[in-house]
Amino acid sequence: MRKKIIAGNWKMNMTFDEGQKLTSEIVNMFKDENISDVQLVLNPPFPHLHPVKKLIGDTPNVFLGSQNCSNMESGAFTGEVSAKILASFGVTHVILGHSERREYFKEDNALLTEKVKQALVNGLTPIFCCGESLEIREAGTHESNVKFQLTDSLFGLSAEEMSKVVIAYEPIWAIGTGKTASSDEAQQMHETLRKHIASKYGQDLADSISILYGGSMNAGNAADLLSKPDVDGGLIGGASLKSRDFITIAKSY
Ligand code: 13P
Repeated sequence: MRKKIIAGNWKMNMTFDEGQKLTSEIVNMFKDENISDVQLVLNPPFPHLHPVKKLIGDTPNVFLGSQNCSNMESGAFTGEVSAKILASFGVTHVILGHSERREYFKEDNALLTEKVKQALVNGLTPIFCCGESLEIREAGTHESNVKFQLTDSLFGLSAEEMSKVVIAYEPIWAIGTGKTASSDEAQQMHETLRKHIASKYGQDLADSISILYGGSMNAGNAADLLSKPDVDGGLIGGASLKSRDFITIAKSY
């Protein structure tokens, strides 16, 4: 059985007080409403990690993730945060290769391989993002484009390493635009990616990997997207900043 994961990517939002309030509300609703069978991952900005972890405590099925980690192990890299440091603060997941990092911070596939390796060596689950631009979608080359992102960054991993990776398919044209991929479009790409993983690592491993959808997922459209057989959860931006919406998405399964 694949894990069902609803991950919130807060991006560069939330002051200290706002983050505390949001986390408390999410954790309380998750407990009160007895949501079973779904893992939540909260991915706040770095300074929130420790206080958010304190609020999560040992709540079952609620995990702490970061939005990035360094490709370096440790040392004189001012401003960087290593996977080892993150793990020591109770972080269990790390979003890597988000399109905003690829675009604004010029992260390429080779750098992302290094980051994935750092995450894995330190016991973190990489949530590896992939996805095509509108231009590529309109040219009809989206499947080969996204498959290549996986091949180039991930297919050097051993089967054991690969089995620990979570994939997030986030079409760039759907991020923050209010324009969601239809559930059929999402299913089509997720199925393609799973087949691609199977072609390299075998069907059993491919069947065990959670593939999340991201891009304007919200309380209204989540149930439809999450009903698709190859959509194993969501990576949520805007709607993860509202506790009720985030919990409604988690309950949509
Ligand atoms: P939105 O849900 O705001 O479109 O963001 C998606 C995303 O980028 C999650 O990583």
